[in-house]
Amino acid sequence: MTDAEDHLAAVRQLLQATPLIDGHNDLPEALRRRFDLRISEVDLRQPVPGLMTDIPRLRAGGVGGQFWSVWVPASLPESEATRRAFEQLDIVHRIVAAYPETFELAATADDVERIFGAGRIASLIGLEGGSMIGSSLAVLRQFYALGVRYMTLTHWLTNRWADAATDPPQHGGLTRFGVEVVREMNRLGMLVDLSHVSPATMSAALDATESPVVFSHSGARSVTDHPRNVPDEILGRVRTNGGVVMAVFLSIFVSKEAGDYDQASDEVVDAARVARPESTEIELMEIGRSWQSEHPAPVATLAQVADHVDRLRDIAGIEHIGIGSDFDGGARLPEGLDDVSRFPDLLAELRRRGYSDADLRQVAGTNLLRILREAESVARRLQAEHGPSELTIEELDELPPNG
Ligand SMILES: [Zn+2]
Repeated sequence: MTDAEDHLAAVRQLLQATPLIDGHNDLPEALRRRFDLRISEVDLRQPVPGLMTDIPRLRAGGVGGQFWSVWVPASLPESEATRRAFEQLDIVHRIVAAYPETFELAATADDVERIFGAGRIASLIGLEGGSMIGSSLAVLRQFYALGVRYMTLTHWLTNRWADAATDPPQHGGLTRFGVEVVREMNRLGMLVDLSHVSPATMSAALDATESPVVFSHSGARSVTDHPRNVPDEILGRVRTNGGVVMAVFLSIFVSKEAGDYDQASDEVVDAARVARPESTEIELMEIGRSWQSEHPAPVATLAQVADHVDRLRDIAGIEHIGIGSDFDGGARLPEGLDDVSRFPDLLAELRRRGYSDADLRQVAGTNLLRILREAESVARRLQAEHGPSELTIEELDELPPNG
């Protein structure tokens, strides 16, 4: 066997006993885009052209646990966002129910281990964007009741109570209601996900949380300077907090050239919007597409993703790393990491770089299981101390009278 085959064989062996838990997969939205709500038309036991995820490839990738993402456009008004979020949640529940021999919903770390032990894929749910709770802690609690185990505080846009990384800040991080959201998530046992939020929001959430935080799909900012990645200073705080940063794969976050290309393409579209304000969004998209067809897109490599993992290890530490692919959530995956069957290739590359099998088990899934358990134990303690929060955004974020 060659060295590379050796590492791959060792990794496959290791994944027999340790669940690989991926932090972020957008299959529910990819299905919605294609089939709307008629997802019974798709058979995930067969490869679906154009998708990065199906059951045979999940199996080939050694996936033992998957956070399925519930995402809606951040630009939707809150009431519409909530309705659409419940529809996305329904899609996840229906996928899991349609393939009981493959998937089972997991509500706890123990569930993940039991389901993995029975040879199935533990299905967890992450809500990607705080706008979906409609600024209501009651709605947040109902999402928890339906299986949501992390919530990303924002998506691409700043919402009423938290600043995003990719939109002008309005709150200096979190508002008072935003802090209350974090506290209520701690009380429920729902992980606070800080991917997509601004560094000020990361800091404010780290100040407020009693549980370990998660970054469900982010890289290291000192490797690739993209606002979606985590600054070193925050990585240091993650070490103290005990949290986990799950390394993202998308080219634009892991390669400077790919990120710059994306920005250049956006700038062409923005310039066209200014020059011809009468253009429709479809015409503008066409302008972007034609620019892209004339300019070949740089694609990241698997080695660049491994560089991010190295950096996360150097600054945050091996106990604080996981994997958060973002498969089916964006275009242009790195060469060699183009679908869910490729997770072992990344772990094999890390092994080649000197990661021990104990290190690899942590990166693959045991770190994530540790913080899930800690969040569950903090929740038990807080629930014994006090009941659900009855505060509202109107009470917390409105200026006091005569203030
Ligand atoms: Zn995302």
